[in-house]
Amino acid sequence: MKGSLNLGKLAGIRVRVHWTFMLLILWIVFLEISRGNELGAILWSVLFICVLFGCVVLHELGHALTAGKFNIGTRQITLLPIGGVASLEAMPEDPREEFLVAIAGPAVNVIIALGLYLIVPMDNFLNQDPEMLEETLSSINSENFLFYLFSANVMLVLFNLIPAFPMDGGRVFRALLSMKYDRVTATQMAARLGQGVAFFFFLVGLLYNPILILIAIFVYFGAQGENIMVQQLALLRDHKVRDAMMTDITTVQPDDTLNEVVDIILTGTERDFVVMDNGKVSGILYQADLTQAFKNRNTEAKVQDVMDKEFNLVQIDDKLTEIYRKVRSNNKTFFPVMEGENLAGAIDMNNINEFMTFRAPLDY
Ligand SMILES: [Zn+2]
Repeated sequence: MKGSLNLGKLAGIRVRVHWTFMLLILWIVFLEISRGNELGAILWSVLFICVLFGCVVLHELGHALTAGKFNIGTRQITLLPIGGVASLEAMPEDPREEFLVAIAGPAVNVIIALGLYLIVPMDNFLNQDPEMLEETLSSINSENFLFYLFSANVMLVLFNLIPAFPMDGGRVFRALLSMKYDRVTATQMAARLGQGVAFFFFLVGLLYNPILILIAIFVYFGAQGENIMVQQLALLRDHKVRDAMMTDITTVQPDDTLNEVVDIILTGTERDFVVMDNGKVSGILYQADLTQAFKNRNTEAKVQDVMDKEFNLVQIDDKLTEIYRKVRSNNKTFFPVMEGENLAGAIDMNNINEFMTFRAPLDY
């Protein structure tokens, strides 16, 4: 995710914090000041948010390590003001595995809450009459810090288990539905419920809490995006790269000039090019890089000056679903296709989209 700060690695997984997280801290400080609280109280509140987000990291780690048990990697864990996101390379398609991965996050908060329950003198808080309790909890301090942390972890568990797909509870719900329905139908049902709940979050957020509005937007579009993704993956299943790739492609050479490539672009419909050097793929020339070179009036440049040398080759018999995932999780969208050692063609998201539109529905 862009604009995030690297905090280091935990259990081999990179943890990052998004810059907008600072807005949350600023907001907390602003609230404390507007309530007339002093510096000490402000510091306790900020410390509390940091420790709470430590619990969120552990929650995400619960998802990530469970996914790891099913051989699914995690690219990173990112902290946002609305919570954490573990970027798994995929969600397990087996409902039982998805259930375990989804439930593992809240389970971590259950364990933390149980641990705190044993440490914190609960009676001191729960046996007070409501007015006294309100007084005791009016601001965070060394006495009630752990009680606050306990309550927050309980809230995290309850909130995450709301069946608002793609939140954890929604994933649990989809996993349960997938035991009865196929994955596409199960996702559609879970996504619809998720969007309904998001709408409700939005209304409640308007009245009470702006963070809930952000979560509503996140859930609404998350549900929509994943629903589409699952439908598309189902369309591509059982198909290989050879079914969708372009075979009629023009290759260019490292010492061709950019002007020569422009001639090819103007007389045809290709946008990105495989660069071949003595029968081997040596790079990819993206139209975006070419455009940039022309903007910089760098028209005498050669292909090798602007081509991307870090590229992924795909094999003609690779699964289309794999390429689809690569395209979605990468900003590179154009892949040379090899048949053994030889270039057989190329594939990009346009091909995959065309394939889904014209070919796949017929035999789905
Ligand atoms: Zn979670």
